[in-house]
Amino acid sequence: MTILVTGGAGYIGSHVVKQLLDNNEEVLVLDNLETGHKEAVLGGKLLIGDLRDNEFMINVFRKNEIEGIIHFAANSLVGESMKNPYKYYENNVYGTLCLLKQMVEHNIDKIVFSSTAATYGNPEEIPIKEDNPTNPTNVYGETKLTMERMFKWFNRIHGIDYISLRYFNAAGADKSGMIGERHDPETHLIPNILMAAIKNESIKMFGDDYPTRDGTCIRDYIHVTDLSDAHLLSFDYLRQGKGSNIFNIGSQQGYTVKEVIEAAKVVLDKNIRIDVVSKRAGDPAILIASSEKIKKELEWKPRYSDMRTIISTAWNFMKNHHHRYNNER
Ligand code: UDP
Repeated sequence: MTILVTGGAGYIGSHVVKQLLDNNEEVLVLDNLETGHKEAVLGGKLLIGDLRDNEFMINVFRKNEIEGIIHFAANSLVGESMKNPYKYYENNVYGTLCLLKQMVEHNIDKIVFSSTAATYGNPEEIPIKEDNPTNPTNVYGETKLTMERMFKWFNRIHGIDYISLRYFNAAGADKSGMIGERHDPETHLIPNILMAAIKNESIKMFGDDYPTRDGTCIRDYIHVTDLSDAHLLSFDYLRQGKGSNIFNIGSQQGYTVKEVIEAAKVVLDKNIRIDVVSKRAGDPAILIASSEKIKKELEWKPRYSDMRTIISTAWNFMKNHHHRYNNER
């Protein structure tokens, strides 16, 4: 039996694939390579195709004995989602519906799903708990919440068990340096800081008058390997028949944008200039997860999520791969 990883050529998906392979699991990756990179898939079988392609999907599910699914395939840029909602509903929501159709037809009853802190919107309390209100402030978060709700109903009606992992700020790279974060265009803070350092440019800091300790936004950064651990533990939870659940996944520690830049200066031993520009629309001042539930239920513990390790692993990947950055898939 194989584990199907949709979006397994993407940033987080490729780290989960590597960890599954390290655990001797059989892995089938499905990716349309719209944003993924085929060389990020370090093993298993890679099928290039799209969840929305019915014939392709019928073949994938007929020809493979799939035990369960870890589902990453989605578009994930907040800004883009506010310009092109159709793309996000069509790929994220309809794509997931196509996957659920095959799961029902082939009696596959386990799925681990990549959700997001963006399902909460502007939090009412910090740290954010799983039962806090969900009021997304952008289309991306709305589509992920819609997907979660679809899983709820497919669970009740068809008995498909799901674990939804609401990620906070995924960061860092596998310690091998072979895989890491490569988005095009890149919007995330840590790779942008590292690219600024490489190019001797300044990092654009979006606002410095937020109501926080130094005026810049506070986020909860979680190392991608710690995130991968959570996916494997979630899949085991489903294998043990423990049922469906929703977990936050963060380090429960907040860093300001300035603190992240300061940490990068130390790790790289290099000055990085800052250019304060206007705020980015829709950025909440503080997002920090309560990760108590996942610690308790899955016995998950972050191992790599201190800022130094996050930045040094991201740097270890970036310094070897930046020449390919922004250029090729
Ligand atoms: N940010 C920034 N400059 C950048 C990218 C991000 O100042 O080039 C800030 C952004 O406003 C937010 C934090 O860094 O406060 C983290 O942003 P990122 O896009 O990495 O993740 P998000 O929290 O939006 O998911």
